[in-house]
Amino acid sequence: MHHGLGRATPPFMKLKIYDSYSAKLALFTPADENRVTLYVCGPTVYSYAHIGNARSAVAFDVLFRVLREIYGAAAVVFARNFTDIDDKIIQSMKDTGESLEAITTKFADIYNEDLAALGNLSPTHTPFATHHIDDMQSLISRLLEKGHAYAQEGHVLFSVESYEGYGKLAKLDREGMVEGARVEVAPYKKDAADFVLWKPSADDEPGWEVPTAWGLNGRGRPGWHLECSAMIEAVLGTTIDIHGGGQDLRFPHHENEIAQSCCGTDTGDVPLARYWMHNGFLNMGKDKMSKSLGNIALAHDLLKEHQGEVLRWALLSAQYRQSLEWTDSLLEQAKKQLDKFYRVLSDMADIETSPIVPKSVLAALCDDLNTPEAFAALHALREDAIKATGDDRKAAKAALLGAGEILGVFQQEPEAWFKGIVAEGGLSDKAIDALLEERAVARAAKDFARSDEIRDELSAAGIIIEDSAAGATWRRG
Ligand code: AMP
Ligand code: ZN
Repeated sequence: MHHGLGRATPPFMKLKIYDSYSAKLALFTPADENRVTLYVCGPTVYSYAHIGNARSAVAFDVLFRVLREIYGAAAVVFARNFTDIDDKIIQSMKDTGESLEAITTKFADIYNEDLAALGNLSPTHTPFATHHIDDMQSLISRLLEKGHAYAQEGHVLFSVESYEGYGKLAKLDREGMVEGARVEVAPYKKDAADFVLWKPSADDEPGWEVPTAWGLNGRGRPGWHLECSAMIEAVLGTTIDIHGGGQDLRFPHHENEIAQSCCGTDTGDVPLARYWMHNGFLNMGKDKMSKSLGNIALAHDLLKEHQGEVLRWALLSAQYRQSLEWTDSLLEQAKKQLDKFYRVLSDMADIETSPIVPKSVLAALCDDLNTPEAFAALHALREDAIKATGDDRKAAKAALLGAGEILGVFQQEPEAWFKGIVAEGGLSDKAIDALLEERAVARAAKDFARSDEIRDELSAAGIIIEDSAAGATWRRG
């Protein structure tokens, strides 16, 4: 049954996704069609997200939209967490003198704003780790009781040896795992592969009292891997349909999530999630864009110079599992393509219609989110729209808008699109309107020297003026 978006629905499509756990393309079937669950690991909120982080968010936003289209918006439950307790946040508290809450709410708000500007829908739930400390402690208590964890020197560790399923997602041998996790030998570990579930907090660090049954003294805080397992259980349930994140999270983060959840809850033989999806990297040159390499472009900064849809289009130009190189020409291409579509939509501004997702675009997305194929289908729809006459124009516009909706593009009025955004130090919309007004007055008074001067000034600022019988309109070139 389709719990609709209140409009004509496409034929039921079969969604195929590449499942990293079984290492094959799989037909997606949810455990419950009326409650399809998706979890994606979210950011640690102590600084700005870079455009590589945004790639992960945008890819899974398209998945969210496709699931909503197939199962109905009300049936899809999507959670993405905020990690708001972490060593890096504590370091930032020490560096800036600000409170944990001040830092994390500031950067969570910025993250939400930047993602919205990139055309992402809000997830159904955005849990903060610090709001789920009880859930985390409950999970640790169960792991301790079942013999999957042990407490030592203020820490609680997961005993990797206690779980035979460990390594099934990563498909690494023990040596590869120790290397991949960069695990240190530490005096409180029985085995170098064991990982931290809970660690002690110094007096000047944020921390929480622990249950006496753990046999530890003093306050502490959760380990990162544990946070996701506990939040998934609290917000979505013990097993979910799809778990997503970047390729770098596959090991150790997701492997550890599986170990914690499978050993601490009753997931049966399901490895926490029924399907695992991992996005490829956004690269700068040959290297992965990453904070540690310092080769990052912040989404927040890029959004000051480019419209959100330009960045989104660029991010979707490669299928999500492929790597994608971030370049200026990628952005130029994206802008050019979008201009073409907005031009057609502008020519169809007189037509009233509602979006209908075209089969060709949905079919491409149902093929493991093949966005390049979806873009090719979009171009065909644009050609159709240009050729359409009479009543066909209405259907053509509905298809373009529907395709835009499922990809999260064409969400602006064409006029607003062509006006673009004010670059730093650029002329505001108001300033441009005022200059055009002054030019009209100058022209009426036959002061052509002044009207030409204004035209040159606007042109130097990159503003293109189009005169018509109805008056002058402008756009940022
Ligand atoms: P982090 O804040 O590093 O935990 O990253 C947040 C999300 O972005 C995770 O799902 C990462 O796997 C993903 N991510 C980080 N860097 C990149 C990149 N260069 N390209 C694509 N995804 C990335
Ligand atoms: Zn996670």
